[in-house]
Amino acid sequence: KGSLVCVGPGMTLGAHMSVRCRSHIENAEVVFTSCHPLMESWIETMNPDVRSLQHLYAEHKDRRITYREMLVRIMAEVRQGKRVVGAFYGHPGVFAQVPHHAIAKAREEGFSAHMEPGISAEDCLYADMGIDPGAFGCQHFETSQFMFYHRRFDPTAYLILWQVALAGDLTISKRISSRGERQILVDLLLQTYPADHLVALYECPTLITDKVRIDWVPLNKLADAQLQPITTLVVPPAQKLSKNTAILAQLEQLHKLEG
Ligand code: SAM
Repeated sequence: KGSLVCVGPGMTLGAHMSVRCRSHIENAEVVFTSCHPLMESWIETMNPDVRSLQHLYAEHKDRRITYREMLVRIMAEVRQGKRVVGAFYGHPGVFAQVPHHAIAKAREEGFSAHMEPGISAEDCLYADMGIDPGAFGCQHFETSQFMFYHRRFDPTAYLILWQVALAGDLTISKRISSRGERQILVDLLLQTYPADHLVALYECPTLITDKVRIDWVPLNKLADAQLQPITTLVVPPAQKLSKNTAILAQLEQLHKLEG
């Protein structure tokens, strides 16, 4: 009977893959991959039937079509009764639609399916930038969704915007959005943050020999900054935490009552 496990080899080649991820890859009958080409070559050394899904991406092609095609390929093998593994870079469930959809679809059709966690860009970001998400709180959004919908976010906490290079792309088919689209993001952020607020462009290494990128730019210069598909935007808190005096008073009262 077919099965599906979605795994994530982490961000940095040869450094992050868990023992369970490796074992699932080695024991699979078919492995589908959507990772950096070098990561895919490495995974190929672990299993004789590794099939890259990367060719399904194309400039000017709606990514929703690409995701559907990936799902169709994965499900076809599961339905054939194979032990299928999908390896998606980083953590397979973090800002990645196909693994979630494929697992849901496989379960819906009665197959066993689950996800194994991996090391995501988020995990690397905390380590490389020395950020503890618990210190002030940390909010993560997909950049275009953050633009397309009214979001209530908190400027006393970190704001992390993923896929910032695709900011405001209504076509869902660009590799990089235009300066104009990014300026609309900047203007949106300027409603909350000062123009000189420093934001960071973060890129963790794919190869152990690559350097981490942490470039600080003032918010009002962000539209001109060099962004890549892998860039994540980090907006530090701009305001101090303000005490919730009403809740504190309630708690003090309760504390007195309870002794
Ligand atoms: N599943 C991936 C993970 O676990 O990190 C995320 C995939 S998501 C489709 C792509 C986005 O992840 C990028 O636009 C960027 O925000 C972030 N990302 C991917 N590679 C990165 C890297 N090397 N450094 C920093 N952020 C990265």
